[in-house]
Amino acid sequence: EAKRRDKNRWTLFEASMDQRYSERQGMKAALREAIRTGAMDLFYQPMFNTQGTRIVGAEALSRWIHPELGPVSPAVYIPLAEEMGIISELTRCVIERALQDAANWPGNLQVSVNLSAHDLNDRAIISVIADALDRTDLPPGRLQLEITESGLMNDLKTAREILTELRSMGLSIAIDDFGTGYSSLSYLDMLPLNKVKIDRSFVRDLTKDPKKLKLLRGVVHLARELGLEVVVEGVETEDQLVMISENNCADIIQGYIFGTPMPHGSFIELANKLSSNPRRLSVVGEAEQ
Ligand code: C2E
Ligand code: MG
Ligand code: MG
Ligand code: MG
Repeated sequence: EAKRRDKNRWTLFEASMDQRYSERQGMKAALREAIRTGAMDLFYQPMFNTQGTRIVGAEALSRWIHPELGPVSPAVYIPLAEEMGIISELTRCVIERALQDAANWPGNLQVSVNLSAHDLNDRAIISVIADALDRTDLPPGRLQLEITESGLMNDLKTAREILTELRSMGLSIAIDDFGTGYSSLSYLDMLPLNKVKIDRSFVRDLTKDPKKLKLLRGVVHLARELGLEVVVEGVETEDQLVMISENNCADIIQGYIFGTPMPHGSFIELANKLSSNPRRLSVVGEAEQ
């Protein structure tokens, strides 16, 4: 009896593996198609001053709606695209679209684009960016690149060379999800950075765990000692915001409390509204995930 149950379980397991495998293959094909045809969408999440009254820029975040499965999280398809070797095509689309969009923003708001590991191992990214800047006439200072620590592991020397060249063109460089990867401290020393984006895991239990505040203050102090600006990501509640402000732990805030990722049209509307009349609004944008 036990044996048969085991056998059934094994068969079930096999079936679900099989199903998951073919789902993945199907997802890969659809993803390739979406990237090739430009069906991916780009949302923008505003970044604010610490009062939440003024926008300083926005992070471009890609969005994909699978024809049958509906919205798929970037946490799922970005690694998939990396694995398939097509992430650089997605990056190129994002850069071109983001720069075109940003050229129409009021003031000199910065647009921030995420790069992945592979992008930093291939010098081709330099001309992709230079061409897009040329074509859109966007001043280089209005473009920021976000790099993740895990994205640097493979070939740090090449990554550093590429980033140094991009920095010399006038771009701004931010290290993303700071505090979650390996060798964070040596990256601060080795890479030509302008900003540190502190990972939202530092914010999550900020108001419950006193140790979190000490960690946050320490990281912020370190970043500022190195002359880097501090972005705090993932601020969701008023309590978190108050604690961050009272401890002077941020220069820029990005989080649901002030604005979630939103379509380009909504972002322009919001940016126009606030640039003519800086004030704090209630939250706007994509429904909470
Ligand atoms: P990220 O670069 O750290 O982007 C911030 C993520 O945090 C976004 O998730 C955003 O929606 C989410 N977020 C912002 N504020 C809050 C908040 O207050 N609370 C919570 N819980 N979440 C918040 P999203 O859009 O799902 O993207 C996830 C990750 O996928 C991004 O993390 C980034 O690493 C990657 N990604 C997204 N778009 C692209 C892209 O075009 N290219 C590359 N290479 N990676 C991308
Ligand atoms: Mg990012
Ligand atoms: Mg991040
Ligand atoms: Mg990230």
